[in-house]
Amino acid sequence: MLQLSEIFYSIQGEGLWTGTPAVFVRLAGCNLACDFCDTDYSTKFFAGVDETVERVRKAGGDCPMVVLTGGEPLAQAETPQLIDALRRDGRRVHLESNGTIFTELPDDVWLCVSPKERVDPRMAARANEAKLIVDRRIPEEHLALFGDKPTILLQPEGNKPNNVAIALEYAKAHPGRFRLSLQTHKFIGVP
Ligand code: SF4
Repeated sequence: MLQLSEIFYSIQGEGLWTGTPAVFVRLAGCNLACDFCDTDYSTKFFAGVDETVERVRKAGGDCPMVVLTGGEPLAQAETPQLIDALRRDGRRVHLESNGTIFTELPDDVWLCVSPKERVDPRMAARANEAKLIVDRRIPEEHLALFGDKPTILLQPEGNKPNNVAIALEYAKAHPGRFRLSLQTHKFIGVP
């Protein structure tokens, strides 16, 4: 059984796929406890893998993009089975992870790693997208992990003006590699 917080249809508001319609599956629980975390990832219901795939279809019809998020989606043992079941159902699976739990993933799974602490270097190497949270500072200690990534996203925590300013200045000072990522869904009031 999977522990779930919510399943809903919206748009991806942040990162390289900003603006793309997607069904979000928020898996409950996290193996970290970041002090800036504003996500309610408590368990709201339980569902098996097949029922979860069915709920995704009910929420978003044939929408090709499904985002598994959390909490930390890879903290649950059944998540790889859910990924496979969604792929069999014709979905393109995106995974938003803190990168601490090494998991083999199919090549067609889009992995966004947003490091908070002790990232597994294999997950950093596998990441299709690296997203650093800017909370009063650029977390430069994570940059070496993503040495081969051409683009690093800088995402101001909470869209707060001081964090936006820090991220903006850093991106402008390193224009070849860094890009600003805002949580645009919050501007338009969608989850
Ligand atoms: S890793 Fe993400 S979901 Fe988990 S506590 Fe940190 S910010 Fe929250």
